[in-house]
Amino acid sequence: MPVTPAVVIIGAGIVGANLADELTARGWNRVTVVDQGPLPLTGGSSSHAPGLVFQTNSGKTMAEFARYTVEKFLRLDVDGAWCFNQVGGLEVATTPERLAELHRRQGWDASWGIEATVVSPQECARLHPLVDPARILGGLHVPTDGLAKAARAVVALARRAQARGARFQGSTRVTGIEQAGGRVTGVRTSAEVIPADIVVSCAGFWGPAIGAMAGMPVPLLPLAHQFAWTGQVPGLAGRNDELAEASLPILRHQDQDLYYREKGDRLGIGSYAHRPMPVELSELPGGEVTQASMPSMLPFTEEDFAGPWEQSKLLLPALRAAKVDSGFNGIFSFTPDGNPLIGESADVAGFWIAEAVWVTHSAGVARAVAQLLTEGRSEIDVHGCDVHRFEQVQLSESYVRETAQRSFVEVYDILHPLQPRRSPRGVRVSPFHARQRELGAVFLEAAGWERPHWYEANAPLVAQLPPEWVPPERDAWAGQFWSPIAAAEAWRTRTAVALYDMTPLTRLEITGPGALDLLQRVTTGQLDKSVGSVTYTLALDEAGGVRSDLTVARLGEQLFQVGVNGALDHDYLRRQAAVGGGAEVRDVTGGTGCIGVWGPRARDLVQSLTDDDFSNDGLKYFRAKRARLGGVPVTAMRLSYVGELGWELYTGADTGLRLWDVLWAAGRDLGVIAAGRAAFNSLRLEKGYRSWGADVTTEHNPYEAGLGFAVRKQKGAFTGSAAIAGLDDGSVVRRLSCLTIDDGRSVVLGQEPVYLDGRPAGYVTSAAFGHTVGCPVAYAWLPAAAGAGTRVEIGYFGRRIAATVAAEPLVDPEMTRIRG
Ligand SMILES: Cc1cc2nc3c(=O)[nH]c(=O)nc-3n(C[C@H](O)[C@H](O)[C@H](O)COP(=O)(O)OP(=O)(O)OC[C@H]3O[C@@H](n4cnc5c(N)ncnc54)[C@H](O)[C@@H]3O)c2cc1C
Repeated sequence: MPVTPAVVIIGAGIVGANLADELTARGWNRVTVVDQGPLPLTGGSSSHAPGLVFQTNSGKTMAEFARYTVEKFLRLDVDGAWCFNQVGGLEVATTPERLAELHRRQGWDASWGIEATVVSPQECARLHPLVDPARILGGLHVPTDGLAKAARAVVALARRAQARGARFQGSTRVTGIEQAGGRVTGVRTSAEVIPADIVVSCAGFWGPAIGAMAGMPVPLLPLAHQFAWTGQVPGLAGRNDELAEASLPILRHQDQDLYYREKGDRLGIGSYAHRPMPVELSELPGGEVTQASMPSMLPFTEEDFAGPWEQSKLLLPALRAAKVDSGFNGIFSFTPDGNPLIGESADVAGFWIAEAVWVTHSAGVARAVAQLLTEGRSEIDVHGCDVHRFEQVQLSESYVRETAQRSFVEVYDILHPLQPRRSPRGVRVSPFHARQRELGAVFLEAAGWERPHWYEANAPLVAQLPPEWVPPERDAWAGQFWSPIAAAEAWRTRTAVALYDMTPLTRLEITGPGALDLLQRVTTGQLDKSVGSVTYTLALDEAGGVRSDLTVARLGEQLFQVGVNGALDHDYLRRQAAVGGGAEVRDVTGGTGCIGVWGPRARDLVQSLTDDDFSNDGLKYFRAKRARLGGVPVTAMRLSYVGELGWELYTGADTGLRLWDVLWAAGRDLGVIAAGRAAFNSLRLEKGYRSWGADVTTEHNPYEAGLGFAVRKQKGAFTGSAAIAGLDDGSVVRRLSCLTIDDGRSVVLGQEPVYLDGRPAGYVTSAAFGHTVGCPVAYAWLPAAAGAGTRVEIGYFGRRIAATVAAEPLVDPEMTRIRG
């Protein structure tokens, strides 16, 4: 038998136990799980988790994690006692907005392959007879949801892992992470040092304390959340035998931030309806761990439960004859964006974390981490859970504290996909921010950046729109965070010239004698080209999945500027540079600014500011050069995300405002405007440009994604080349496809299911109104057989919207505009 790495898992909660199971199932038998608490009831969050598993989620990854947890726990038991009771899940609506939201959620379920139906109030009451049908407008029923018995599942998983050689050691507190030469070598406990090649912290809300031992920031905040048990509820007595515990569906009343589960003749009630209650680790209760007393349980604050109890009696009238019997304020983790934290330390190789994970997603997360450890990649895209997704400024304690509390408050809110956070704002601004404010920019937020979505200063242009450019009215949902000004900005970009702030797109500088080798090794493109070349290329994982797309400009023999998708790419390239040596990777985003100057008058504008040659011969498409515009030093790259003639102009953060001002002044006679992300997104979709993370992830190969043109197979081996060797555009079974909406007016927003012959066959990844083509455009994953002309339907709030697969790109397929 091959010797597998020695792994120490810190934490024997539902995540640690699942991970031990997943690793040992893959033949890694040198696994030790340590926990500071006694086994199996350690006193962590899993020891008292009520275990409701609702699978519905806006994102595919989290839904798949949940679905795997259900499938796995259904097959677990402890001496015949269940670990998953598939009672189904019911979410009820008491407002028209929530009912519409339930239809939207049903759409997500259809997208991710989870059976779900929106049902009438009467059907809700039939499924859950305690619910007063007069109080509700309908419900979402998911028959495969149910109750996970987390504490029992921990026992089942531990037994299985132990049978394969794992060791579980309770009452063992980890006090330090041992390391040498940048690698983890073990964990120090109160009694000994346990050697390890890999350490995975599954310490739940204690994560930041363990992370600190390895110098790794863990951006989560422990928060208390109320949970109460009622006494006997009339109507429940005699329904369930002792072993089954429950037969009614788990229930969510999101309009009041409440959820319910049955246990024998009692109900458990969880409430998010209270103020956020952050918890300091130093305040945790000590003493012996028992069912009723654990470090993760704080005393019940009755006053916070008064309102929720009244609301519960309204929805479930049988509770009027019952009492609150007991309760506690249980602690678990919240993160800035609500997602888990998975990944390896940037500084201590072999030190990993898997934290901020609900019971619901625990098996899925553990499988992903086990796959990352044993195979180097997860079959499910995990970029939204990668701990390195955050920018440095987002790792500050104050940022995490504020945003994690907001995640708590918003946990059951109806959130529009474009809804920006209210605070903290102004965390990162581009050099042009002052001018943008003067122009009435409406800012949304991403990765801490303030990003103009459109500019109110352009409002007068709406009245000047030619009739074919006037956008149709939108419904109330699609009309949020949108303005017809975006149409005017798109129009001016296609007919005159516009300035786009591209500063927030992450830029790396890769330098040194090993820089070219690094890029050749990790990307699909041929980058051994002349200085001044710009290349659009892909980074694949070993299985050929697209882990990112990059725009690489060779600015010197050993100097490359690389446009990437965010902090994850920086982390990846930095690690890869360390493997090969001789290359340094630096994030230069904050020290630079970038303006995209795009439109048919772009050359007139730029050339008027310089003696440098910006003609077609002077700077060809996909070439870069340094120049001066109105005296401002820039690096100009002849590229365009919007499909028009123009350049990305980079300059230092110090000279950014000056660059904006000289372009603005020189452009007045040419009709220059500032344009925002709403117009940008519309124009890029019309041109067929993919957005990594939304349209394409590691789950897709380049050919499926329509990115095969960026692969140079003949250049020799690169990461992922073996996996895609036999693939081409003709070999794919699914494809990222362009759809146009038949009625010319119904805008969808993304994540909606796409039906082919009446059955769910894919999902929308990005969508916008195509102002140039005069109809809404959506990109969607669909079977490859659904070629151009195929009629489909998109599910939108329970409606079906007819759409047709179109040949792409919709605008300028001959590239005459962009090469002009
Ligand atoms: C009231 C309440 C209700 C909830 N309801 C649900 C629900 O219905 N559905 C759902 O999906 N989720 C629910 N959750 C969330 C869920 O319980 C947690 O997210 C989940 O249990 C976390 O599992 P874990 O294994 O990461 O953490 P834990 O179970 O907390 O395990 C972490 C372990 O690490 C150990 N540890 C920490 N520090 C050290 C150290 N220095 N040395 C050794 N060991 C250490 C701890 O002792 C602990 O056992 C609820 C949480 C609460 C509080």
